[in-house]
Amino acid sequence: MTIQETVPTFESLNPANGEVVGTHPVHGEAAVRAAVERAREASQWWAALGFDGRAEILGQWKGVITRRIQQLAGLMHDETGKPHGDAALEAGLAIDHLGWAAKHAEKVLSRQRRPSGMLMANVAASVEYRPLGVIGVIGPWNYPVFTPMGSIAYALAAGNAVVFKPSEYTPGIGQWLAATFSEVCDKPVFQVVTGYGETGAALCKAGVDKLAFTGSTATGKRVMAACAETLTPVLIEAGGKDAMIVDEDADLDAAVDATVWGACSNAGQTCAGVERVYVHERVYDEFLDKLVSAAKDVTAVDAPGSLVGPITMPSQIDIIRKHIDDAIARGGRAVLGGPEAVGERFVQPTILVDVPEDSAAVQDETFGPTMTVTKVHDMAEAVRLTNGTRYALGSSVFSKKNGMAVAEQIRAGMTAVNSVLSFAGIPSLPFGGVGDSGFGRIHGPDGLKEFTYAKAIARQKFKAPMLLTSFGRTEKQDKQFLQILTMMHGRSKTLK
Ligand code: NDP
Repeated sequence: MTIQETVPTFESLNPANGEVVGTHPVHGEAAVRAAVERAREASQWWAALGFDGRAEILGQWKGVITRRIQQLAGLMHDETGKPHGDAALEAGLAIDHLGWAAKHAEKVLSRQRRPSGMLMANVAASVEYRPLGVIGVIGPWNYPVFTPMGSIAYALAAGNAVVFKPSEYTPGIGQWLAATFSEVCDKPVFQVVTGYGETGAALCKAGVDKLAFTGSTATGKRVMAACAETLTPVLIEAGGKDAMIVDEDADLDAAVDATVWGACSNAGQTCAGVERVYVHERVYDEFLDKLVSAAKDVTAVDAPGSLVGPITMPSQIDIIRKHIDDAIARGGRAVLGGPEAVGERFVQPTILVDVPEDSAAVQDETFGPTMTVTKVHDMAEAVRLTNGTRYALGSSVFSKKNGMAVAEQIRAGMTAVNSVLSFAGIPSLPFGGVGDSGFGRIHGPDGLKEFTYAKAIARQKFKAPMLLTSFGRTEKQDKQFLQILTMMHGRSKTLK
């Protein structure tokens, strides 16, 4: 009798109605390690293809995803509950990033000359950014295409192979991405492993050359601790508690529109979504009236055409409820929604005012279609309160005159002026946080370099008149060196 090993499986469910969307394997340590080993071999072939060869394949993949965007958006709708239109928008922005990464990798990463300085004038200095090898990517469920693709696309374009562990809530989307990639490349350059947190933990220990994690701050700390054991570098894209600042001269209608969308789209499950609003006292009442009447029209229901879907991860419902209850128990008021807005699967937009700054609804990530709105005396107070949480991911400012000045004072990875979340859709801009929002950057030149190591070369062009790196150095040369050094650095600048 032969004993057949059965691979355990798990189901992904539609959060709007609990129906099964798909069944996927739970990959254990051995399977994850095997995927990384396959990727390691493929990574050498991929790196040797060069920028043009890789850009060609990534361009074909981009075409496949674009032509099948409706199918992908349908799957995203089923696994996360997000409206079909939002899913297509998310996938479309990811495609744009993929195109940018493939097109710009050569310019950003290929060998560049650097000035060699007066002391080493006989040497030609240059640097190039080489692929690390195999990148492990662990992704969240809230933006299951856009977010992991911020790492996957840039890591691939930089010449790495990738093993991706999608969230247990969105495994089908991860599989879909890997399956479409395999249509344009028959080598295991981009693979997916599925399962629960343990599969992610196994990926951290499977010998990858870097781990790009996007998810909660708490899990990010566990990932970093696991990777520390093997000195595996990490990129951590964690949570946020982003603020919207509205100045007295702001276009209030535009600010209201951006706030409602920034706080409620994707049912508020956006790492860089609006969770706090600080409004200048001169326009506070007018802004709040407009905000309530605009948000009233946004309802979360399980119906075609609904603007807002369900809460994807069932356990988040309790956190949203706790934040609202705590805010009200501590003297806050719900001017829209409130405790009764929290249903079994859906949460209706909720606007809280008079909420103390040290409460959970202001300090911790709520991840629901809720927001606190707070009156401030001036922009200095708005900036101080905005900078008052341990998170620092994105932010927005609405102001006609002082947008840039306010933006520059905010401690956050990104700020949108007179718009919301626009930075995420600009492929040339880096995306990432500070503090508990993590570190490292995806997107743009920084995002390409994140998946490389810098390789410096110093090539002697001609023999130096004064050889510094030799035991044959004479006393006279030592003196000359100190004279040159004094000329270069010895004069202290007088302070005015
Ligand atoms: P989690 O931290 O719960 O999970 C993230 C990923 O880590 C999932 O794939 C999860 O797998 C996996 N994981 C869980 N435990 C471990 C472990 N011990 N070792 C390795 N991997 C593990 O986050 P969510 O999925 O709930 O995502 C929401 C969070 O992501 C929010 O805080 C949000 O702000 C943040 N986020 C940040 C973004 C950014 O760019 N800064 C963008 C998007 C989201 P499994 O699901 O199977 O448990």
